[in-house]
Amino acid sequence: MDLRYSASDEQFRKELREWLGDVLPAIPPEPGPHEWAERRAWDTTWQRMLFDAGYAGINWPTEYGGRGATLTEQLIFLEETTRAGAPYIGVNFVGVLHAGPTIMAEATEEQKAAHLPRILRGEEVWCQGFSEPGAGSDLASLSCKGERDGDEYVITGQKIWTSFAQIADWCELLVRTDPDAPKHKGITWLMFPMDTPGIEIREIRTIVGSSEFSEVFFDGARVPVANRVGAENDGWRVAMVTFGFERGTGFISDLVETDRLIAELAALARKVTRRSGTAWDDVALRRDIGHLQAEMDALWAMTKRNLAQAERHGVPGPAGSVVKVYYSELFQRVTDLAMQLLGRAGLSRDDVGELASGTFVEERLRSTSFTIAAGTSQIQRNIIAERILGLPKDR
Ligand SMILES: Cc1cc2nc3c(=O)[nH]c(=O)nc-3n(C[C@H](O)[C@H](O)[C@H](O)COP(=O)(O)OP(=O)(O)OC[C@H]3O[C@@H](n4cnc5c(N)ncnc54)[C@H](O)[C@@H]3O)c2cc1C
Repeated sequence: MDLRYSASDEQFRKELREWLGDVLPAIPPEPGPHEWAERRAWDTTWQRMLFDAGYAGINWPTEYGGRGATLTEQLIFLEETTRAGAPYIGVNFVGVLHAGPTIMAEATEEQKAAHLPRILRGEEVWCQGFSEPGAGSDLASLSCKGERDGDEYVITGQKIWTSFAQIADWCELLVRTDPDAPKHKGITWLMFPMDTPGIEIREIRTIVGSSEFSEVFFDGARVPVANRVGAENDGWRVAMVTFGFERGTGFISDLVETDRLIAELAALARKVTRRSGTAWDDVALRRDIGHLQAEMDALWAMTKRNLAQAERHGVPGPAGSVVKVYYSELFQRVTDLAMQLLGRAGLSRDDVGELASGTFVEERLRSTSFTIAAGTSQIQRNIIAERILGLPKDR
């Protein structure tokens, strides 16, 4: 195994760094957390800039208009864009990271032609309608109905935690098309247009005060059978394809974020005053930050090893679950230590004096969701136990 970057990787990094240096200064300020129309415009404009420069769909095959980058180049892309403070994929994440790749793998040529170029150019935003109030970890229990009526499915039921539903054009939607079949066998994967009559979107306010996800109610909404991806009642298999992409290399940008936050924590410690000096003078605190950084370094090494293996075998394996559990819990420990360091300043949502306390409070609250989203830590541990360690199956 070789964890070093090759000469062509370094060339890729150099060109990307130059491009980022040219374009980032001209980008307008990021919209506020509740300005959804502006947020969509900001994120999709960035997507279009990536497209024009040949960086859109960095992991998509070239035959579908993507860059066809190696996994190592994808890693470099995420490292460089995050370190340069470039916009993240934002509201487009479902389209680019998993609906698009699922369409590539499973849809008809007509469906591919209708959606893939528009996703890449930032003209189509997607959301994910999988979870329901009674079906999260146990997703196969979902009950939102899709009843066949001629050339259409009639959708009735509810989805929840649908990120960016309020600004999405399309939804990757799982519905129950055969209520009598065993639960994994009666599900269908649909491309649902979000402007269809018969749906209601109710925003949910999160712990940080934003409303990035919603409940979506369907009351007899009609969608053409032609919008089905895969066969009727074969949607569980298609959903596993979606999850393969969602849980594959999607966490790398979160690792870069965690790394950056540890550096900011060390900088914060140098600013927090203690008696005659700063908190950084405290050996015990420096040791704690050092441990977090060492864990981070180990996580990077493991990620690069996973990438090297995935590059050889072609697909990301279940080792992504190890990275997901580790980074999400590490991120929470970093923000916990920041709260200890800030003391009373950690009670304020705004920055206090010179301290960037508001950012750390926001990150602490936000990170609560990291161990839940995209499969909870318990579910990831089940996957690790069963598929990596070969332990008996969860009952
Ligand atoms: C920020 C965020 C964004 C999200 N975006 C979307 C989205 O866009 N679209 C979408 O469809 N969903 C989305 N979700 C939903 C997410 O997929 C679910 O929250 C997640 O799958 C957990 O399901 P649940 O909330 O129903 O919890 P439950 O499944 O009810 O779990 C409750 C608790 O029980 C534990 N548990 C459950 N089963 C087991 C088991 N077998 N073994 C051990 N412990 C178990 C869980 O770990 C958890 O601690 C999002 C969630 C978050 C936090």
